[in-house]
Parts: sequence; structure tokens; C-alpha cells
Amino acid sequence: MSDTQTQQWQAMSRDHHLPPFSDYKTLNARGARIITRADGVYLWDSEGNKILDAMAGLWCVNVGYGREELVEAASRQMRELPYYNLFFQTAHPPALALAKAIAEITPAGMNHVFFTGSGSEANDTVLRMVRHYWAIKGQPEKKVVIGRWNGYHGSTVAGVSLGGMKAMHGQGDLPIPGIEHIDQPYWFGEGGDLDPDAFGVQVAEQLERKILEVGEDKIAAFIAEPIQGAGGVIIPPDSYWPKVREILDRYDILLIADEVICGFGRTGEWFGSDYFGNAPDLMPIAKGLTSGYIPMGGVVVRDEVVQTLNEGGEFYHGFTYSGHPVAAAVALENIRILREERIVERVKAHTAPYLQKRWAELAEHPLVGEARGVGMLGALELVKDKKTRERFTDQGVGMRCRDHCFDNGLVMRAVGDTMIISPPLVISTDEIDELLAKVRRCLDLTA
Ligand code: PLP
Repeated sequence: MSDTQTQQWQAMSRDHHLPPFSDYKTLNARGARIITRADGVYLWDSEGNKILDAMAGLWCVNVGYGREELVEAASRQMRELPYYNLFFQTAHPPALALAKAIAEITPAGMNHVFFTGSGSEANDTVLRMVRHYWAIKGQPEKKVVIGRWNGYHGSTVAGVSLGGMKAMHGQGDLPIPGIEHIDQPYWFGEGGDLDPDAFGVQVAEQLERKILEVGEDKIAAFIAEPIQGAGGVIIPPDSYWPKVREILDRYDILLIADEVICGFGRTGEWFGSDYFGNAPDLMPIAKGLTSGYIPMGGVVVRDEVVQTLNEGGEFYHGFTYSGHPVAAAVALENIRILREERIVERVKAHTAPYLQKRWAELAEHPLVGEARGVGMLGALELVKDKKTRERFTDQGVGMRCRDHCFDNGLVMRAVGDTMIISPPLVISTDEIDELLAKVRRCLDLTA
């Protein structure tokens, strides 16, 4: 019998492909699941199974799959000007129009964008940019950037170093010098007996201790996701961000808010910084910028920082695909859709409250120690004992739950024993009901 099409693709994967974040031996033994098409909030695999994508791809397909306007924008731009660079005193209309559109939706006083090809490149850029900034200001010794354990800022050398994923640090002798980490504001996992706000203040105060330990004149910036995504949808207690801001102001340290996940409506505000009322100095962006239809990222920069950069001569930094015209045209159209269809406003007023109400119901499930969420983000902590928050000793419970989800037509991701969702912002209430019914069924199967 000849191989099926799926088996042929799986063989191609085994024989020729090295996929990201994969254990190759396990993957090759099982065979990759092949996704062939998508529409709205659904995917279809090569076996014809319909799957509700509660992760919006990788937290990015904010306007949902199948938006013809984005296809049109890309093909129009490819015909007009498929490529040109922004180096050496040139520019092109799509990148300029996009920079202006981004300035219109980002927090007040953030009016310039440096374009990159991804979120990781945005974080490489931000590291170089803050060091360049302090050097121009005559304080070149202000070089150290403080990040957080279990934060995620990408997979390039700078991205991994700024992030606090210890398993990633372990591969490749990272972090690079000049980067320090403090604890994350993960109350459920690390808060002990403290109430959330007391814990929030306690972890924020670690920032001050780290500043004093390294030397207050040596710290360039603090980098953090407004809500940690890849770390497990970790929502800081209310006390956390105000305390962090107070400390940064005291020591004249820049705030880098990594908005790669939280940006473009995920929290029900345009940016996670809006949700928390923060005023960052630099914001790496990507993902929702193009709703994932084409790769693109960038760093949005506060006016005061730009004024200094303007005085600093050439910034020796950039990418062949910085502000790529086709990506810029798609991003511009994506922002037009988000604005004209009032998607962010609808998330805030209707979709997110409905999702969060239904999500909170899962807290009653015997396996769930906490059901938390903000906007279109949600997490479930799987526990053996709800009262004591004791974890399962079986390390694979999250993975088991994730596999049940896939087998039952749902993409939900596992971060250890934390199950997470981040569905397209355009998901309907009926689809949320379907999502919840599937999650419940998969929890039952996992129990
Ligand atoms: N920053 C955050 C907060 C992310 O979640 C990610 C990716 O998940 C990145 C940066 C890296 O983005 P990319 O995968 O586009 O390089």
C-alpha cells in the first residue's frame, strides 16, 4: 500500500526539516501533525480534522484566519514595490505610513518606530538601542539590562539572554554578559502565604535590591512583558507595576515593555502598557502587528529617547527586511481592520468579559487550582490538591492535557502544568462556548 499524503509529509519532516522548539526524536517517532488550511478561528489538518485554534497560532492571528483584505494588500504591494530597503537615506511609502499608524495607536509620547523582522530581532535592537542611548548621554557605563526569570523575549542570543528561561540559557552558554534577572510576579506558583499585593510589592522590591547590588549607575533598563505569555500567562498583582515604576524613576532607568504578545488588543486595550497605565520608554512589538500573516516586528520609542538618538550619529544597526514593504502593507491593512471594525473596543466591552466569565467557571473543576485571565488571555493551573496547591508528581500532566485537546479538536498550550489560551480576538461567543466545552472535556479526560 502506498503512503498517504500525511505520511509523505511526515517523512519529509523527518528527512529534511529541523523544526523549532522540538524534541526531534519524539517528533520523528510520532510524526508531525500537518496543518493544511485555516479560516476564522479554525484550522484543518491533513486528515481533514477541524481544530479550534485557542492559541491564535502563536498568540498572533488577532484578526483571525482567512482575511482576504490582507491577501490583497500583500499582492498589491508585491506588484508595486516588492522590496526596497530603508538603509542609506532611503524610505518607501508603506513603511512610513505604517510608522505613522503605529504612532497613532501607541501610548502618548511614543511616536517613532524602528522596524525589524520579528520579536526576537526587536529585542536585539532594544538591547543595542538602550546602550547606545546611554553612551550618547555620556553614561556609557549604564549598560546592564535587568530581565526576569521565566520571562520570554525571543530565541536570538540577545532574546534568550534578556529572557529568563533557564533551559534556554543552558543551551549555548547564555546569558551574554551585562544581563541580570530577578524573580517573576507569579503569585500562584511562588507567592507562598503572602496575599497577592504583598507578594507583588515584594518581587518588585527585588528590582531595587538588584540595582543596588550591580551599582545604580550601571543599569540601562528593565525589560518585562506587561503580562508574561510564554512563561504561563502570568498576570502581576495590582501592586506590582506601580512599585516597579517608582523604583525605575528613582534610579533613572528605562522601562522596556515587551508588547510582542500583549500588543494589538490582546488585553482589551491596544497595548498591555495601556492596560496597566504604564508609560514605557521602548516597546518591542511583533505578532499582532500583522496578525501573523507575514513576519514583522519593531521597537516603538519614546520621544525623549528619540531626541537623544538624533544627537548620536549613525546607529550601526538594521536588517535587510527592516520595514519590508509587503510586510508593512499587510500590517497597515491589519491595523485598519482592527480600527474600523473596532475589534479592540469589542474585545474590551463584550468578548473578553464573556470569555473571562466562562473561563472562571473552570475553577470548579477538580483538577484546576486557579483559573485566571485578562482580556483574551487565560491560564489554568493543574493541581493534585486544590486546597494546598500541591502539584502532580507526574511531570507530564500538562502535556497529556494538551494531547487530549489536540485529539479533541482544540489547540491549547501547556507550560509545565499550566494550560494556556490566547484565541483570535474575533472569536464569537458561540465559539467561546465551544472552546469551554472542549476544555472541560479535555480536563475530564486528563483527570
Ligand atoms: N517577546 C515576547 C514577549 C514573545 O512572546 C516572543 C515570542 O513568542 C518574542 C519576543 C519573540 O518573537 P519572535 O518569535 O517573533 O522572534
